[in-house]
Amino acid sequence: MGCHCAGILRRAALLAILAGSCAAQIQEISGERIRAHVKFVASDLLEGRAPGTRGEKLAVEYLAAQFALVGAKPAGDNSTYFQKVPLVGVDPQPASELSARGRGRTVRLRWLEEFVGASQRQKPLDQFEAEAVFVGHGITAPEYQWDDFKGADVRGKILLLFTNEPTSTDANFFGGRALTYYGRWTYKYEEALRRGALGVIIIHTAPTAGYGWNVVRTSWGREQPSVKLAAGEAALAFAGWVTSEAGEKLLAPSRHTVAELLKASESRDFRPIPLGIRVRGRLAAKVRELDTSNVVARVAGSDPELTSEAVIFSAHWDHLGVGAPVNGDPIYNGAVDNATGCGILVEIARAWAALEQKPRRSALFLAVTAEEGGLRGSEYYALHPAVPAGKTALALNYDAFPPVGRVADVVLSGAERTTALPVIEGVARRMGLEIKPDPHPEQGSYYRSDHFSFAKVGIPAFSVKTGDRIAGKPADFGEQFFREFNSKHYHQPSDEYHADWDFAGLEQMARFGLLIGLEAANLERLPTWKPGDEFLPAREKSGVK
Ligand SMILES: [Zn+2]
Repeated sequence: MGCHCAGILRRAALLAILAGSCAAQIQEISGERIRAHVKFVASDLLEGRAPGTRGEKLAVEYLAAQFALVGAKPAGDNSTYFQKVPLVGVDPQPASELSARGRGRTVRLRWLEEFVGASQRQKPLDQFEAEAVFVGHGITAPEYQWDDFKGADVRGKILLLFTNEPTSTDANFFGGRALTYYGRWTYKYEEALRRGALGVIIIHTAPTAGYGWNVVRTSWGREQPSVKLAAGEAALAFAGWVTSEAGEKLLAPSRHTVAELLKASESRDFRPIPLGIRVRGRLAAKVRELDTSNVVARVAGSDPELTSEAVIFSAHWDHLGVGAPVNGDPIYNGAVDNATGCGILVEIARAWAALEQKPRRSALFLAVTAEEGGLRGSEYYALHPAVPAGKTALALNYDAFPPVGRVADVVLSGAERTTALPVIEGVARRMGLEIKPDPHPEQGSYYRSDHFSFAKVGIPAFSVKTGDRIAGKPADFGEQFFREFNSKHYHQPSDEYHADWDFAGLEQMARFGLLIGLEAANLERLPTWKPGDEFLPAREKSGVK
């Protein structure tokens, strides 16, 4: 069972010959070619690849040229390799104000010290005043018989809530220890908007957020891009956070406390609590449009019908650009994050395009923008796909690989939730790779990388990640590398290319994804999510039964 592009061949002899040549082509995937891409994409010349900069132009033109060289065809706007992604950058300003009034008292919160947030209406100045309602975790999840809203009309209201989800160790209730999407703060804002609320204030606590206020403060205190609103499209007048202490201050006139509300929000019988306070905001921001693009290439399938369907390979090309110097270096090169994924993407495209006998479905190679700004490039692609979600078999995402040598295991969070699992397990077995579970499911990392944008529209999707066992190295070598990378180099100018890097593990991951993709492209039926999964309704809506 060496060859996956031979599935459509009928004659045994021919099959044997082609199987040999196919296997040979796949063997040809080269870590050294991946190195060449990584070295260029992460070089200072590209200035850290921030969306909308000269560095972006160089990066996306390079990727488009590479796709052209390997024979992958343009699949972006107007027969180009580029899909324009209209983004608006909103940089909240210290002049922003948030206050609350109740029982004759007014509480004013201090920017960054006590609150962060912005209007999502993409305006330089937005103002509002409205009644506040506490809505627990702000979750409506029929599959877990959970509804924090209980039919309450929250239109035009400011919702106070906690992030995360009801505590559980039961895998059938909010994923047990694992975080489901209901627990992510992005869900809270989306659900509030669906319900016509005016704004959302998340009361931060370290246990519910999973990180300290400093993390909230740094990420919300700077420019964030979002997809440009269509004319007349609704958006929240305020999306933000307050510290636990500021939450206490806000709640004081209502005679409620943070601890008491946190406890109440754990109950299935919870009902929204009108707080008898009015919240007022005046949000100032610098607003600008960003000229940025996804790069989209396609290799056509061999089946006249199924060629309209596809397997997606994705990797974000963007990083943080030029910023505050660290040890005199202002360029945030993003070598591991994510020049490595870009190199793998181009190498898979080359191997796929070189196959003499193409699989039945097409392959799409998608280098997306603005991952660092909140998965915006993949979000935009999912809303404006080159191949509809209902015709997309599978999406494999590549984001940040440690170039430390051959690996013995892979982490594929989310793959176990899809019907593609047997195919994936089969490929892992043949390559001698052990599939490891997500070591920290409670952190909800599944919802923080580009594959999630595809899952949201129903596509079975996950990121391919290396585990931490490295061939020929001590058992804790991989873990130590991760720890050191995360503490010293993650999102720092020192995430740079090093000539002594070993690309054998990246070569394995490229081959692994290629083999899975080839099988998925030849399957009789499109993979889907398993029964009860939170993404199954979206898959069914996209037309896959
Ligand atoms: Zn990344």
